[in-house]
Amino acid sequence: MKHFIIFGPPGAGKGTQAKLMVEKYNLRHISTGDLLRAEIKAGTKLGKIAKALIDDGNLVPDEIVLRMVSNEIVQNPDVSGFVFDGFPRTTTQASSFDYHLKSLGMDVNGVISIIISDDTVRDRIHHRALIEDRKDDMNDEIIQNRIVTYHSKTEPLIDYYKKQGKYHEIDGEGTIEEIFDKISLLIEML
Ligand code: ADP
Repeated sequence: MKHFIIFGPPGAGKGTQAKLMVEKYNLRHISTGDLLRAEIKAGTKLGKIAKALIDDGNLVPDEIVLRMVSNEIVQNPDVSGFVFDGFPRTTTQASSFDYHLKSLGMDVNGVISIIISDDTVRDRIHHRALIEDRKDDMNDEIIQNRIVTYHSKTEPLIDYYKKQGKYHEIDGEGTIEEIFDKISLLIEML
């Protein structure tokens, strides 16, 4: 089994690339953003807690996302690997995740980081706001909060995974196909 983390700021194209990885390499996609939005849509207790945080561009508590991810893993024992998208997003999530994977006899093969500038983040999210109905994409102040949160809470993971020798960067400013070609080369090496 091979497991990958697709990493990058909001709007980097993680979800788009993860779907292509799933098709080509027969992986299972675990997107914490999608899982949380499904909870909100279903009106669960967890969804109610998550909604206010997500709509303001804040992170959901680590324990909630860790539990969701671990449920997804145990419910899919027969897959050839996972692609984790939007997770981990804090160093606490990353270290708890490592501990959990180890207990399952699993390991992350590589972290694929899609690099785009903050200006591209804003452009991509403005574009997505025209297509998808996400409250957190509609307002510049909230988008800025997500960018600041990414730099302060998520970017420290770059060093965390560099230390493990698992961190790989891809230039995310090209076309979907160009970026996916680079990701494919990387996956086949890892
Ligand atoms: P994007 O990467 O475009 O911000 P996501 O769909 O990955 O979109 O996440 C949307 C929101 O869901 C985040 O802004 C955050 O509030 C919440 N979220 C998703 N994943 C996590 C996570 N691993 N930890 C905490 N909050 C999360």
